[in-house]
Amino acid sequence: MCHLRLSNVSKRFGTQEVIRDLDLSIEDGAFVVFVGPSGCGKSTLLRLIAGLEDASAGTIEIDDEDVTQLPPARRGLSMVFQSYALYPHMTVRANIAFPLRMAGLDKAAVDRKVTEAARVLNLTDYLSRKPRQLSGGQRQRVAIGRAIVREPKAFLFDEPLSNLDAALRVNMRLEISELHHQLGTTMIYVTHDQIEAMTMADTIVVLNKGVVEQVGSPMELYRRPANLFVAGFIGSPR
Ligand code: ADP
Ligand code: MG
Repeated sequence: MCHLRLSNVSKRFGTQEVIRDLDLSIEDGAFVVFVGPSGCGKSTLLRLIAGLEDASAGTIEIDDEDVTQLPPARRGLSMVFQSYALYPHMTVRANIAFPLRMAGLDKAAVDRKVTEAARVLNLTDYLSRKPRQLSGGQRQRVAIGRAIVREPKAFLFDEPLSNLDAALRVNMRLEISELHHQLGTTMIYVTHDQIEAMTMADTIVVLNKGVVEQVGSPMELYRRPANLFVAGFIGSPR
């Protein structure tokens, strides 16, 4: 089943064309990583999918519905921001519950969903703490928890680990992969880090200057890079 489809999508900021006539299909349940150098358009592409930017041209479909004109809240996707996007004055419980309270769910339903998310993310013992009383990894898990409770059709991650230290980053990669395994929900994950892409993705989309250079599994990209850009980018150490 094709889950997410972009057809001839372009995005201009002024005269600069940041995404150029891009076609892409993403299967239901996939773990897809958008990788490419800084400034190549990864965040813009993710924000177009989320509905946080309007496409200049082209269409975006989710489950065969044209969502190109729909606002973010009606696309059924959850974007995971970096952990510093947590509300510092709220407890972990209140942070995770926030999107559900905004959506008007009753307290019992909110509590049930928050408890379940906390269990999945090993945050049960930390629900009454404030973000500043947590480690970087725990804070990142709270940010993910806030996305999980909305039961999205897909999770969108934009470099969620870039402000964590190296050891923690490795840990969180494993945790996010494990979460994908448990939930089975489509995840689209943006990074400029080749190692993150190679270790986490089942499908990698290599972007360069707003175009897709290659789509394939980590092994396909490694064994049969489509061009020198892919070979250089995937092969080079950071
Ligand atoms: P990446 O996430 O791959 O680093 P971005 O998608 O953030 O790249 O940016 C791609 C290009 O679009 C960059 O040249 C950036 O300066 C430009 N850009 C991104 N957002 C805006 C914006 N809101 N207004 C103008 N230019 C933007
Ligand atoms: Mg970016």
